[in-house]
Amino acid sequence: MKLPCAHLSAGALEHNLGVVRRLTPAARVMAVIKANAYGHDIVPTARALQAADAFAVARLDEGLALRSAGIRHRLVLLEGVFSPEELQVAAREQLDIVVHSDAQLSMLAAWRGTPSFAVWLKVDTGMNRLGFRMEEFGGALERVRQLKSVRELRLMTHLAAADERNSPMTDLQLQRFDELTAGSNAERSIANSAGIIAWPRAQAQWVRPGLMLYGISPFGDISAASLGLRPVMQLTTELIASRRVKAGESVGYAGTWTAERDLTVGIIAAGYGDGYPRAVPNGTPVYVEGRLVPIVGRVSMDMIAVDLTDVPHAQLGSAVVLWGNELPVERIASCANTIPYELVCGLSQRVAVCWEG
Ligand SMILES: *Cc1c(COP(=O)(O)O)cnc(C)c1O
Repeated sequence: MKLPCAHLSAGALEHNLGVVRRLTPAARVMAVIKANAYGHDIVPTARALQAADAFAVARLDEGLALRSAGIRHRLVLLEGVFSPEELQVAAREQLDIVVHSDAQLSMLAAWRGTPSFAVWLKVDTGMNRLGFRMEEFGGALERVRQLKSVRELRLMTHLAAADERNSPMTDLQLQRFDELTAGSNAERSIANSAGIIAWPRAQAQWVRPGLMLYGISPFGDISAASLGLRPVMQLTTELIASRRVKAGESVGYAGTWTAERDLTVGIIAAGYGDGYPRAVPNGTPVYVEGRLVPIVGRVSMDMIAVDLTDVPHAQLGSAVVLWGNELPVERIASCANTIPYELVCGLSQRVAVCWEG
C-alpha cells in the first residue's frame, strides 16, 4: 500500500447528506464539490452524493470532468463563465451559470445560439467578492429578465460570516437579500454549511453545503460529531523507523525540539510534501496504535517525528492516523492556525486515494 493514504467513505458522504436533509427538509440541496470535492476526489464523490438535487463547482473544467464521467445532474458554475467560448461550452454541456457581473450579462445578451441558460443571478449583500452591488441589482434583474438566452432564473447571495454565530453580519445580509428580492418569485439560495446549521432563516429553496458533507464542522467551538456528521476522510500512514534519543539531543531540522529525558522517537511517512501542514507546533497530536502522541520537531517534506513514550508496543508498520475519526482535521487545522478547508484541499498528488463503501 502506498503511504500516506486518504481513505474515503462513500457511506459517510451519504450519511452527511442525510444530516443536511434533516436540517433543511423543505430545501433542495446543491452539493458543493469544487476543488476536487475539497480534496476528496470529485467524480466518486458525485457518485456517492447522487441523491443530491444539483452539484456546484467553481470552474468550467470541473463541470466538464463531471459531465465526461456521466454525471447528468444539474451542475452550477459558481463563478459563471469568463469568455464567450466558455459560454458556448456551458450551453453544450447544459451547465447552469452564476451571473455576477455586467460583463457576464453582456455575454448573455450577445448569445445567438439555440439553447438558453439557467442563470443564478448573484447579489453581493456584504461579502464584497462576487455579485452585483445592491444598488445595481435591480437593474441587473431587469436586464436579465429581458434576455431571450435566459430560460430559468434563480437568485442567490453568499454569507460572509455565517460561522460566527454572534456576528451581526448574517442578519444584515439576510435582511438585505429579503428586501432586494421581495418583488420576485424566483427561487433563492443563500446558505453554505454554517448557514444551514446556524441560521434557519437562510434556508430558502436551495441550500449549498460543502464542508459539512465531508463530515467537517464549520464552527471552531462545535464538533462535527456533536452535529451528527461523520468524517469522510481518514488520512493514514505508517511508522517507518524509530530510534532512541538521549536527554539533551535535538530532533529534526533546526533542532527546534530538545529531549528532556531519554525516549523513543518514531518516524512516520508523511510530511508537507503530502499536504500535512508544516506550521504545526511541537505537541500537535498524531494517532498511533490507539493513542494520541505528540509531534516532536519540525514537520519535514516526507517525514514527521513523534514521541512514542505512551505507545511502547508501537513497531515498524504500526498504523498511524494523521486525521480522521480519532483525530478530527479541525483539530490539526487549529494547531496549524488555519481552517480545515485548507488542509483537505491541500493534499498533494502523492497521497494515494482509496474508496470504501
Ligand atoms: C464554497 C461555496 C459554498 C460551500 O461553502 P461551505 O462553507 O463549504 O459549506 C457555498 N456557496 C458558495 C458560493 C461557495 O463558493
